[in-house]
Amino acid sequence: MKLGISAITKRDRIKDVLDRWKNQYAGYPSDYLVGKRGEQEAVGVILKRLKALNLSRCSEKDVDKAIGTDKWAENGCDICGSDVLVTAYLQHRYSDERTMSVCPKCLETALARCKAAVR
Ligand SMILES: [Zn+2]
Repeated sequence: MKLGISAITKRDRIKDVLDRWKNQYAGYPSDYLVGKRGEQEAVGVILKRLKALNLSRCSEKDVDKAIGTDKWAENGCDICGSDVLVTAYLQHRYSDERTMSVCPKCLETALARCKAAVR
């Protein structure tokens, strides 16, 4: 049986930002405006900036600057909310839609509590 547990790094999140952007705005025209009121830009303009990035080497700040918001390169923990370098991506064995991303600190806490509970 294959376990639905994998490690997702900040770089993984940066590398798939272009695909996530394309999926998010697949049904929208390229001149569709997104962003904060007064600072809106067309999704096509942002897409061009994302395509110009080297996603294997660019920084999180480069992604933030290209998009105009600061959440797209985030690798957040679903338990504590921290943005971390690596998370464990946990998938329910019967559902592709039931997943969690958990940081090492929360995993360690969970493991310690499991061990303490049966001591
Ligand atoms: Zn956490």
